[in-house]
Amino acid sequence: MEAVQKSLEQVAKRAPGLHSSSSSAKAAATTPTVHDSIDRLIARIESAKATLSSTSPADPGVVVAELKASVESAQKSILDRQKEFHAALGKATKTLDKKFPIPIDGVADPALFSSSEAQAALERVVLNHLQRTGDWDTALKFAGEAGLALSSETERLYVQLHNVTAAMGSGDLRPAIQWAQENRPFLELRKSALEFALHRSQFIRIAAGTILPGSDGGGAENRDPDGENVEMLSASIDALPAAALAPSNAVVAMARTNVEQALAYGREHFKPFRTTHLSEIQRLFTLLAFLPAFLPAPAYGPEGVDSVPVEHLIPTVPLIYRPLLDFKLVHAPLLEPLFKLEFCARHRIAKEAPLAIGVEVGAGGALNRIIKVKAVMKESGNEWSQADELPIEIPLPNRLRFHSIFACPVSKEQGTEENPPMMLACGHVLCLETLNRLAKGNGRFKCPYCPTESYVNQAIRVYF
Ligand SMILES: [Zn+2]
Repeated sequence: MEAVQKSLEQVAKRAPGLHSSSSSAKAAATTPTVHDSIDRLIARIESAKATLSSTSPADPGVVVAELKASVESAQKSILDRQKEFHAALGKATKTLDKKFPIPIDGVADPALFSSSEAQAALERVVLNHLQRTGDWDTALKFAGEAGLALSSETERLYVQLHNVTAAMGSGDLRPAIQWAQENRPFLELRKSALEFALHRSQFIRIAAGTILPGSDGGGAENRDPDGENVEMLSASIDALPAAALAPSNAVVAMARTNVEQALAYGREHFKPFRTTHLSEIQRLFTLLAFLPAFLPAPAYGPEGVDSVPVEHLIPTVPLIYRPLLDFKLVHAPLLEPLFKLEFCARHRIAKEAPLAIGVEVGAGGALNRIIKVKAVMKESGNEWSQADELPIEIPLPNRLRFHSIFACPVSKEQGTEENPPMMLACGHVLCLETLNRLAKGNGRFKCPYCPTESYVNQAIRVYF
């Protein structure tokens, strides 16, 4: 899909008159846009008109000849821009054709979206996609035109998902941490590593001096509804060396080194994970001993997707502590999938936008294959019935597999309620019909995959 996107961007860029094909001023002068060319030409005609009607007119022949040259050069420039645009358009069309081979009419069932229920379902999916991708304006307009009710609850959810992940993308984990803390019972029930992973990234980035705990990101402020952290914080301040203590809390925060701040942060936030992550917490605290201590600048630095905030520290720590500085653990944007997973599970919404997955699977090769197979089937005199089944298996990457479907390795039929998958005593799985066919009424047969003798009554149903 990326290639399609890129070629469409090129078309938009080269739309005649709208933009110059290059952003530099010098290039803009040599390759003016259509609008510029026309404006310039009009200005020249106006000035020629003024010259001719003035009290001391120049030689009309010269003026007209100059004008003629101007018209020709403007015409050439406009034609050039148009040529560029058409070239980009042609390229985009080719890319689209390559991605979405035509015709798909024979593959898609035209009756699929004819019922009003199917139509409504399709509209809901589109609306969901627009909300999922944060396109609020279009979602609002679409919902109005399609007559769909907008739930403020759903919108609030998607806005939250969007805001938190956007903050994570720029290196700010605080909104994600707040969400994780508010949903701690749910996360604990799922044995989720999210909250610890978020604190671990904060801890290491504070230790590296790339971020400060911040006025609202932990530190002196208590975010935990059970009030545990306030206690922890005071305990941790008590335990700090005297040099780090100053009369007021604000001064304490200012005068603390990166290492002291990380220590305080860890003491405050790792407490709920002592039973689950004790050895890692110990290693994280020990890591501090190897880091250079300094007074970090008071800023919560934005973290770009490409920057790895702690990379420079890797050579300073012993080999066995280096995995703790792995960018996969530390880099805030990389924790986004984990957050999304838990957030979507908590609110029972799909992990990825369903429409995006549908398009990815279809455009990612499935349609191509089905069209090819259909042509081959037609040539050999077979017709694909299209009745809720695909003519071939479409291999998909793991992340796009959602429901396991059992296909009997002998009969190649898909498992159903009437013909369920059955596991033999040897561990091999066949469907019930195949099993009965092999047994031929004897109740006993040889497994087709290993020479073990199997009994029909020993086979047990397998549930996926
Ligand atoms: Zn077997």
